[in-house]
Amino acid sequence: MQEFAGQVAVITGGASGVGRSLAFALGRRGARVVAADVDRNAMDALERDASAMGIGLLTRRCDVTAGADCEALAGYAMNEHGRIDMVFANAGIGAGEAGPMWTYSMKDWQWCFGVNVWGVVNTINAFLPRLVAQERKSHFTVTGSGNGAFVVLPDAPIYTATKAAVQAITENLYYQSVAMKSPVSVHALFPGPHVVDTGLFDSDRVRPESFDTGTPKSSGIRSVEDMRRLMQQHGMELKTTHPDEVAEAAVAGILADTFWICPRTEESLAKFLARVESIRTLQNPVAASVG
Ligand code: NAD
Repeated sequence: MQEFAGQVAVITGGASGVGRSLAFALGRRGARVVAADVDRNAMDALERDASAMGIGLLTRRCDVTAGADCEALAGYAMNEHGRIDMVFANAGIGAGEAGPMWTYSMKDWQWCFGVNVWGVVNTINAFLPRLVAQERKSHFTVTGSGNGAFVVLPDAPIYTATKAAVQAITENLYYQSVAMKSPVSVHALFPGPHVVDTGLFDSDRVRPESFDTGTPKSSGIRSVEDMRRLMQQHGMELKTTHPDEVAEAAVAGILADTFWICPRTEESLAKFLARVESIRTLQNPVAASVG
């Protein structure tokens, strides 16, 4: 189980949800983890829990919307450990949008693009030069979402738009790395196959004051449980995935060195194929459902 002994992993958004599970999955396998986040309380809890399990781990405040923070994070990891083997550009938020998209606050658009898109770009800019300069095998994994990359779910247009951009960026990074014969393997991680039970539906807990819209969250959903109740009211069942399963899939994908790290079901594949078929036949698209 010590596949990553001596290796160094940096995770943005590493304090909760998928990032936290990644920290444990990698730490248990011998990696020295640097978990970066904006949520100090969650980082303290992660440090406590990791130490109780005998996992060595460092935490570091890093707001991925700030290029300087990402640069400082990369410098910190390098100074502390002298090498970086795995980077997870994982930080992401949901803006909690609901209703017609022309009614959304620009602050919701800007915050979500800031974290989900510029956060990934800032992480690439800070870490890729260092990974390439090491001239040995390393891994750069971007957490995307099937909602945006493969299908357009109609419930969260801002989030979907950010994850469509993230897919374009990640895939281009992969093509460029291959073309350059770079030793950096690029991976696209898609948490799933079902909705992953994390804090994503309550991202407002880390919304900066500068992006406060002054109105309560419009979707009314603050947790996977809220989503489950809402779907039950419409006679639908919500299946969920534990973030630890996502972390295990990520580990397997890195060890197998595959670009797509995408646990999926027949249903999720069918939704993707329905969209592709609409594009192929030029028939009008039909919205896919969540869950
Ligand atoms: P989460 O809220 O549990 O974790 C996200 C982490 O990012 C939090 O610890 C949060 O504090 C941190 N964060 C927020 N803004 C930040 C910033 N500016 N700088 C640094 N860190 C910041 O949610 P999660 O579901 O674990 O999200 C992880 C990734 O998985 C995201 O990119 C998300 O879009 C993606 N994802 C999640 C699901 C799902 O079903 N939960 C599905 C597909 C993709």
